[in-house]
Amino acid sequence: MSAPPRNPFNPRLAEGVRRYGFRKWYERELLSSHAHLLLTLLSSVALIGLLEAFQDASLADKLLNVLLFIASGAIGLWSLRRYLYLLTHAEEVANQANCPACGTYARFEVMGEDRRSGQTAVRCRACRQEWTIEA
Ligand SMILES: [Zn+2]
Repeated sequence: MSAPPRNPFNPRLAEGVRRYGFRKWYERELLSSHAHLLLTLLSSVALIGLLEAFQDASLADKLLNVLLFIASGAIGLWSLRRYLYLLTHAEEVANQANCPACGTYARFEVMGEDRRSGQTAVRCRACRQEWTIEA
């Protein structure tokens, strides 16, 4: 079985580190999470606008408003959830990015990845110490 496909903007840790390096991967995860936060805020503005437009609308417009309200609410909840996931995941990985032997931060190369357990084996570029990051 293969892992579910991820969007190209948020590659898995192993793939992201191989492609961009850890710092760039981390930066992209944070940027992506904050883009989702922005979408959450825009959805909230849409919800407020729809509530305001609801009052003087005809029945057909009110029905349309209800549908748009549900859609905006769903998008807002999804983007809030995605924002929180991306942010906490990036922080969780960043907290494990210090080499346990020499303490060097974020200077490691990926040795292997176990997608089922979510563990990524990494090796310090400074002292060659190996450890695992739960991602
Ligand atoms: Zn080290």
